[in-house]
Amino acid sequence: MSDTRPKHAAPTQFEVRDDCLQIGGMPLTRLARRVGRTPFYAYDRQRITERVAFLRQHLPPEIHLHYAMKANPMPAVVQHMAGLVEGLDVASAGEMQVALDTPMPPHLISFAGPGKTGEELACAIAAGIVLNMESEAEMERIADLGVRLGIRPKVAVRVNPDFELKSSSMKMGGGPKQFGVDAERVPAMLARLNTLALDFEGFHIFSGSQNLKAAALQESHEKTFQLAISLARHAPGPIHTLNIGGGFGVPYFPGDQALDVETVGKNLGQLLPGVRHHLPDTQIVLELGRYLVAEAGIYVCSVLERKESRGQVFLVTDGGLHHHLAASGNFGQVIRKNYPVTVGNRMQGSEREVVSVVGPLCTPLDLLADRMEMAGADAGDLIVVFQSGAYGLTASPTAFLSHPAPAEVLV
Ligand SMILES: *Cc1c(COP(=O)(O)O)cnc(C)c1O
Repeated sequence: MSDTRPKHAAPTQFEVRDDCLQIGGMPLTRLARRVGRTPFYAYDRQRITERVAFLRQHLPPEIHLHYAMKANPMPAVVQHMAGLVEGLDVASAGEMQVALDTPMPPHLISFAGPGKTGEELACAIAAGIVLNMESEAEMERIADLGVRLGIRPKVAVRVNPDFELKSSSMKMGGGPKQFGVDAERVPAMLARLNTLALDFEGFHIFSGSQNLKAAALQESHEKTFQLAISLARHAPGPIHTLNIGGGFGVPYFPGDQALDVETVGKNLGQLLPGVRHHLPDTQIVLELGRYLVAEAGIYVCSVLERKESRGQVFLVTDGGLHHHLAASGNFGQVIRKNYPVTVGNRMQGSEREVVSVVGPLCTPLDLLADRMEMAGADAGDLIVVFQSGAYGLTASPTAFLSHPAPAEVLV
């Protein structure tokens, strides 16, 4: 009987030569020698550059792109990205330090996130970056700090919209949220802001993440523009920047279809003239994390042992959920599904086999592939997890079981 279950789309972003995956212009086996050990993450700079170019080809040219660093804060990646996009979005003092080491001008760096400490706020004010305010209380703290430092802080209001981003796996706006200020409270906040020593930059309206549906993004963009236009009437000055969030998803699982960016771009192009009419001085910004980096990255670990248990084959590797929580299915997924996983040095192989790829941790959750078909593999072979350039290493519990951390390279 043939297997009719949906399959992963073939990962076409990397070349295969002599049955071996190529990355950064060399065979994976050679890169593993170059890195000197497994496991490691490898990010391909050419793929990142191409992804940004692809987006620009489909988006209206007046839209600026920002990189949301938490998707992949590796300093080399952020340096590379700083030369490709118009701004960086950070979510901690640590990310801010990495962003400030790039050539990106500070006023094009923004800092979002609830619970910013006094220390973080003071550093950001001194640096001259834009603070996306998550509450009225935070606004008061920023204003006080500004007075004490003798610097006028640059601020934007993060709005918790009165709508949700549909078909998004992670909703970050609409209903009660810890993020942003409820839309209906923003007019009063802006009136207060007008009495404080703050430079008002604009609005930040981010409603969700990992969306593969152009129609859902389209609807969210329409509502975001409507909301921004209505709030702008209460603003103390012109809206310099309107950050409409991102939410562009990437396909991870069998049956996932890549986001139709062409349609998203066309729709934005149709909406912009109306927005221009109401907000003539406003720079529209899309902030993307995952979409820019996820598909450019792979996670690589070595098979230590091929083990059989009651008819099921397990490839026991030196990598696992402590390095790549998302691939194990434990980073916000409701139902565990396999990431695209393959034997990188034996892409087709001579025979195929259904195997489970596991790590060294003493928990059944440590599963990188659950009964997937791949080339027959044994000790020494290299297992590759695709779509691993975002929310990989820094979204994983590396201290769990005290194994060494993986290496990370930009190639
Ligand atoms: C996490 C986050 C992003 C990035 O989301 P992606 O799904 O990686 O594109 C953008 N903006 C804000 C405010 C975020 O918190």
